[in-house]
Amino acid sequence: MKPFSPDTERLVNVILRTYSGVFVDYVNIDEGYLSDLCDMPREQIYNLLKVLDNNHIISYIPHRNLPSITYSRNRVEGKFVTISEDIYDKLKERFCERIKSMLMYLETDNTCRSGMLLDYFGEKTKEECGLCDVCVENRKHEASEREIDLAQKAILNMLDDNRQHPVTDVYQLSFSSPILDEAMRRLIEEEMIKPDLAYIKKYS
Ligand SMILES: [Zn+2]
Repeated sequence: MKPFSPDTERLVNVILRTYSGVFVDYVNIDEGYLSDLCDMPREQIYNLLKVLDNNHIISYIPHRNLPSITYSRNRVEGKFVTISEDIYDKLKERFCERIKSMLMYLETDNTCRSGMLLDYFGEKTKEECGLCDVCVENRKHEASEREIDLAQKAILNMLDDNRQHPVTDVYQLSFSSPILDEAMRRLIEEEMIKPDLAYIKKYS
């Protein structure tokens, strides 16, 4: 081993005199204090300690400016962790339950999401949030149901004169075509109106 430089020698001596427990365990050192005692710049203290550390003479953990955390226990490596079969089965079961709930959450499109979440966490509620995609979709659906209903009434109203009307008359009513289509489909299905098919004929 190379002999210490005079500076290193001085630092080692100061450390040994100042921190008595240093042979046994890690001690907190104050680089600033050492720099005062050795009459050396702090930077130099740091560098000398690093050199001693690199030579395995000391183990030096430099002071950090950032807060740090330390495990107060040794971390057990995964391969040494054993889980009893009982616990394993329970964990697996719970995992499957969670996946099932998640899938149900994703696949269900007729139950309020918020309600489903509350249900998952064990809270029962009948109220719907009115904001999730399911609620929004339901509201849209209800709105169009109302419109279809109104369109059906308007068509029947128009036919109250008991005359045959061309289908184009229906599309003069102030509803969107899909709504009128659906209204007509339902009226035909319920046999409220009778469709008269148009004819096609080949040129002779
Ligand atoms: Zn909702």
